[in-house]
Amino acid sequence: MDKADFAEHVEKLPKPEILNSHAQNTQADPDELWKSAKENLRLIIGPKVFGGIFGGCYIENIQNGLVQISCDASYKREKILRDYKATLKKALLKSSGRNFEIEINLREKDTFQKEKYQYHDPSKTEEVSLDLFSSAEKENKQKESALKNAQLNPKYLFSNFIVGSNNRLAEAIAEAVVEDLGNAYNPVFYYGDTGVGKTHLMQAIGNEILNKDASKKVVYISIEQFLNEMVEAIRTKRNEDFRNKYRAVDLLMIDDVQFVETYPRTQEELFHTFNTLYQANKQIILASDRPPKEIKNITDRLRSRFQGGMVADIQAPDYETRMAILRQSLLEKNGSVEVPDEFIQMIAKNMDKNVRELEGSLTKVLSLIKLGMNPTEEDIAKLLQIDLESKRKKITPMKVIKAVSDVFDVKISEIKGDRRTAYVAQCRQIVMYILRNELSMPLERVAKEVNRNDHTTVLHACEKIELLKKKDSKLNERLNECYKIIRE
Ligand code: ADP
Ligand code: MG
Repeated sequence: MDKADFAEHVEKLPKPEILNSHAQNTQADPDELWKSAKENLRLIIGPKVFGGIFGGCYIENIQNGLVQISCDASYKREKILRDYKATLKKALLKSSGRNFEIEINLREKDTFQKEKYQYHDPSKTEEVSLDLFSSAEKENKQKESALKNAQLNPKYLFSNFIVGSNNRLAEAIAEAVVEDLGNAYNPVFYYGDTGVGKTHLMQAIGNEILNKDASKKVVYISIEQFLNEMVEAIRTKRNEDFRNKYRAVDLLMIDDVQFVETYPRTQEELFHTFNTLYQANKQIILASDRPPKEIKNITDRLRSRFQGGMVADIQAPDYETRMAILRQSLLEKNGSVEVPDEFIQMIAKNMDKNVRELEGSLTKVLSLIKLGMNPTEEDIAKLLQIDLESKRKKITPMKVIKAVSDVFDVKISEIKGDRRTAYVAQCRQIVMYILRNELSMPLERVAKEVNRNDHTTVLHACEKIELLKKKDSKLNERLNECYKIIRE
């Protein structure tokens, strides 16, 4: 290609798409680009989520199509990579007209210190690094022991807590608490049925606080442990120690607080601990299986303390959230074993109350597959004690036709009628396919449902849709939508 050809070639390349008023030219100044991308991000995900996720981020460098972003917290980094990467790319595209790759780097306190030292006296870099190394090690040790003292399980993190419609508010509150401990909402009272994620979320807060600053005093405890320690303290005449321990923390988390009903003495102690912490602006988080007003045998003054800050419920997760939780736990639990998506969907469809149960079912299915059993859907149903038959019986042909009509925007009368436009014919075939596969209906009956009298039409329809499904992802998406409606 000579120079003139090259110029022509460049001329023909697609121009950057200028998408909105926040768009900028392609000049890649990190600060300018971030300023504009931030505006776009705010528009796309809303200011609140933006603040929580991208608040401490900025672009530190742009080179060769790679945008390097500096981020101030590991849970934010993981969250961006998991949930917001595409959105971020979109925002950068809108701002610059360029498709950037993204790298997110965690900003560590140590890096800052190191830079400062190097600036003051470059010849001492080595010593200083060593010094920093040992201080990093010290910090790690401090973190480890803080986690242990706090009784936190390092597994429970924000990064592996899936956010769905059931827990969105609860999670937003948790993030706000991490951002501004003791001030954002105090106390926080989480309630919800067993296995919906209360303990996970609470511990994620504790872990994140210690991750940010290992010198913070964090305590997680169940109300029963609290009682046991109290009784032991009384027995050994160490009341003062007990009091001091719980009244000198930055963050106190008490789990399963509904059991306080049973222990009047604990209520008294809890009330005083509560007041001390509250007055000192220290954070309190409580979790219970029911809201404060339904905890019957507690004093009014304790109940009003429980209610005095932010009360938020966590519900059972919806289907989408259950699928996301299962997919993530699959990644965590197992690298190599292939689990057919139908099985995952089956678990998500049937285990709809409790995440613990959801994960338990996944473990069972995984072990069956790992044993090399090659299970069928029927085997899985048996294993999980799901009654497939009665589930199928609840699905009526009309429900299927209605779902296809809604999702594909075609009239029921058209599906059942004579019209032969390609689109209507395909919708009709989809109905036949679902009736046959999902309801295991005999061919003749399927034909009758769509007013056809030849059962070979049904066979042909099933084959055709089967083939289309393999190459048409849009069709698959819409089929899944239909299944969702049908199975509701
Ligand atoms: P609860 O305290 O409400 O009884 P847990 O916090 O103990 O429930 O949650 C039960 C299990 O489900 C834990 O293994 C937890 O990690 C998991 N879990 C619950 N909710 C979520 C979620 N939103 N994302 C990921 N895992 C979850
Ligand atoms: Mg719990």
